[in-house]
This record gives sequence, C-alpha cells and structure tokens, in this order.
Amino acid sequence: MEEKTEDMTRQALPEARILVAEDEDSNYRYVEKLLKKAGFDLLRANNGFEAVEYAKIYEDIDLILMDIKMPVMNGVEATREIKLIKPSIPIIATTAFAIPGDREVFLKAGCDDYIPKPIKPAILIDLIRNYLKF
Ligand SMILES: [Mg+2]
Repeated sequence: MEEKTEDMTRQALPEARILVAEDEDSNYRYVEKLLKKAGFDLLRANNGFEAVEYAKIYEDIDLILMDIKMPVMNGVEATREIKLIKPSIPIIATTAFAIPGDREVFLKAGCDDYIPKPIKPAILIDLIRNYLKF
C-alpha cells in the first residue's frame, strides 16, 4: 500500500513543465523537492515580473504555481498579465497570508485555483493532476 502511494506521486506526465513563481528560497526548495519527485520539469521565477517574462518566452509551460506575495510584481498582477497573453495555462495561487475574501480576489484575477501555505503535498499533486488531466 505504501509503495502504491509512492507510485502515484511519480505518475507525472513526462513532458509536463511547471513554472514556480516563488521569491523565498526555502519555499521554492520545498516545492521543488515535491514536484521533482513527482516527475515534473520545473522553471523558477523569483518574482511576478519574471513569471510574466517566462510565460511569454517559454511555449511549453503546462501550469503555474504562483506565490502571491512577491517583490517587483505580486502574484495577482502577474496572473492578470499572464492570463491576457496565455489564457489557457492553469494558474494555482498560493500564499500563507490569505485573509477572508482573498480567494475570490485571486480567482477574479484569473487564478484557476488556490492552495494555502504550508502546502500539503497530496493536495497540490491532486490539484495539478486535475488540471493536467493525468
Ligand atoms: Mg513570497
């Protein structure tokens, strides 16, 4: 049974690439470990501006995990910009600092979903699975 759970986290699409927009190294490393274990190819943006630039440059981004609190450009603004140019890329917002009503703000900005920090691995993998249909 334990082995089956392990296998499930490894059943990523081999070509799936996730852009992780996260300004804090420790948060990125946590997500990196989790998503690499699940077999994803990752790109990191250090702020919202970089996330928008990567979304423009890379044609093969399948999903974006978007931190909300970031320098230069926050995740809400970055999401609005990315959805204008690449509306089909699913964006999952994440933050440790949500207040009541924030989820609606994120969704209105164009985020497809929201996951609070600390990110629970199984919930994130399930969400990604759902958007990538695997
Ligand atoms: Mg942050």
